[in-house]
Amino acid sequence: MTTIAFIGLGHMGGGMAANLAKSGHDVRAFDLSSEALHRAKTAGCLPAASAAEAVADAEAVVTMLPAGKHVREIYETILAPHAKAGTLLLDCSTIDVTTARDVATLAETKGLIAVDAPVSGGIAAANAGTLTFMVGGSAEAFARAEPILSNMGKAVIHAGANGAGQAAKICNNMLLGASMIATCEAFALADKLGLDLQRFYDIASVSSGQSWSMTSYCPIPGVGPETPADRNYEGGFAAALMLKDLSLARQAAASVDADTPMGARAAELYQAFVDGGAGGRDFSAIITTLRGES
Ligand code: NAD
Repeated sequence: MTTIAFIGLGHMGGGMAANLAKSGHDVRAFDLSSEALHRAKTAGCLPAASAAEAVADAEAVVTMLPAGKHVREIYETILAPHAKAGTLLLDCSTIDVTTARDVATLAETKGLIAVDAPVSGGIAAANAGTLTFMVGGSAEAFARAEPILSNMGKAVIHAGANGAGQAAKICNNMLLGASMIATCEAFALADKLGLDLQRFYDIASVSSGQSWSMTSYCPIPGVGPETPADRNYEGGFAAALMLKDLSLARQAAASVDADTPMGARAAELYQAFVDGGAGGRDFSAIITTLRGES
């Protein structure tokens, strides 16, 4: 059993902290929301009165926060001054590569060990303990992080040095955003050409146009396995979060002068979709604009 502080008990962090508690760890939980803290208590965590109190005796600290600025603030104001030397810091939030590297360097100067460990998989996977973790950090840090992350996921993969986890995450999600739009476009065109969409799925899902966006997350209701499309695009992975990841990918591409035209176009299309008020819908709902439905 490890004493683990968990900061950020939102949609994702709530289920992740619960799974750590279920695995027998002593979880000291903190969130700015008292409702989230209450839910964590019900799930077997020990609520702390402050982030500093949560991390004081911890051997490991997991953060699951909205964005880079929140992570930077917690590392600078809470972890650097209050965590004990040798504590392992695991940031599972999706943030920019630069901040991930900066906070890891800060941690190192304070005698702490940091990994970035963003996740693939949404709220259902966080609750079920079936996330995939992409980990950036030294081999020694990964060896310490892996058993903890395994309690919350089905796969824990060492991506490389600090920042590599975030790099893998945003490259993967840039690919996902572009492939979802391409899949939606193909279905919209097939429809206008008079093809039966189930028949098109039967063909494309075993042909060279096949992708995860088509066969695991089909944007057409009633076609393929059950997906958010079958629930009027509710639940799943919100378009606003896809836009966040595409924006991080654009920022990362600019920082290394990489040409990512499909990623950039996908970001523009999701920006327009979110600006139109659809940020809370599943990201596959972008097919409704391509079909001229909204
Ligand atoms: P969320 O907004 O539901 O949860 C974030 C939590 O952090 C909130 O409860 C908030 O009160 C808390 N918080 C913010 N600042 C804090 C502070 N200073 N101290 C303590 N608590 C603080 O967000 P989420 O959906 O759980 O996402 C968390 C991270 O996971 C994000 O980086 C997101 O991009 C990433 N992610 C989300 C999903 C998803 O499907 N929701 C999937 C993969 C990755």
